[in-house]
Amino acid sequence: MAVRYELIKECKQSGARLGRLHTPHGTIDTPIFMPVGTQATVKTMSPEELKEMHAQIILSNTYHLFLRPGHEVVKEAGGLHSFMNWDRPILTDSGGFQVFSLSQLRNITEEGVSFRSHLSGEKLFIGPEKAMEIQNALGADIIMAFDECPPYPAEREYVQASTERTYRWLKRCIDAHQRPNDQALFGIVQGGMYQDLREESAKKLVELDLPGYSIGGLSVGEPKDIMYEVLGYTTPLLPKHKPRYLMGVGSPDALIQGSILGIDMFDCVLPTRIARNGTTMTSQGRIVIRNAKYARDFTPLDPECDCYTCRNYTRAYLRHLIKADETFGLRLTTYHNLHFLLQLMQQVRQAILEDRLLDFQEEFMVRYYGSTNPVTAF
Ligand SMILES: [Zn+2]
Repeated sequence: MAVRYELIKECKQSGARLGRLHTPHGTIDTPIFMPVGTQATVKTMSPEELKEMHAQIILSNTYHLFLRPGHEVVKEAGGLHSFMNWDRPILTDSGGFQVFSLSQLRNITEEGVSFRSHLSGEKLFIGPEKAMEIQNALGADIIMAFDECPPYPAEREYVQASTERTYRWLKRCIDAHQRPNDQALFGIVQGGMYQDLREESAKKLVELDLPGYSIGGLSVGEPKDIMYEVLGYTTPLLPKHKPRYLMGVGSPDALIQGSILGIDMFDCVLPTRIARNGTTMTSQGRIVIRNAKYARDFTPLDPECDCYTCRNYTRAYLRHLIKADETFGLRLTTYHNLHFLLQLMQQVRQAILEDRLLDFQEEFMVRYYGSTNPVTAF
């Protein structure tokens, strides 16, 4: 298999897993947060900066690269690693989520999805075989089966039909996959918020003995307690010695709680997207740096952070750059937010090692949210 998961230990206090994932481009410490590089770049960050902040793996989007520049171009460049000058592990999604969320006039059939490009209006098609062709050309270490992510809320009949089709699509992906020795194909557990559908989906995926398992269809607008409930009954059904990836989740509280519920990998555009809007995550909680109260604040963004931004610049300067729409401001806030989440996961791994993740969670929640029970989505 292209990847191998090594379970190092389980936290005695919380049950969270500390592990290592060995891939063709290196080893990843888990639980891990994966910065998102949608268009073959983590917006405004260079690969050198990502390495400096200890990013171990990044994610890129199949749908976006299929539209532009086209997977053939990336293949000609020698694959995504070479094209974007990133020699560490990469994960690509299947394109399914973006086809459903970004494109217009989509039409789903058993064959796949036809849609119009959100860029050019051109009529395009992606099905399981096409999703594999694109991802085989991109050449990421970990690739995803083509799936449909049902919205929330959704009727049971719809979710059931969709989940069953996603399973048939997975089997077609397995057949179409051309590079199983150097690209690990993960299946995606769906089933919406329906326990029996999730259980059925997980059970059928596990029978296929895949190199890893993703949990999709969460963080789509449902309350957090429902997401945790779904994770609570889904992750125990997945094999202990395979990696588990929770898709599209990256708020600090959910990274910690997800780890407690047995997740090894997370990704989310949140830290980079909010950074460009001037919102930052700090050891004292969230700071909206464009607020007037920071105009004359000449202290670091986060006094406890040792990242490039916090070592060299003040809140007043960051506020000025963001207000003036300066690219450098976006770079500095993005750098800090990614560094913050990567450090948070480092602390989570340390707490698992010391069997004290529940204690860490409580301390973190009080400092960051002012409460151990945040209702905010952030
Ligand atoms: Zn910082």
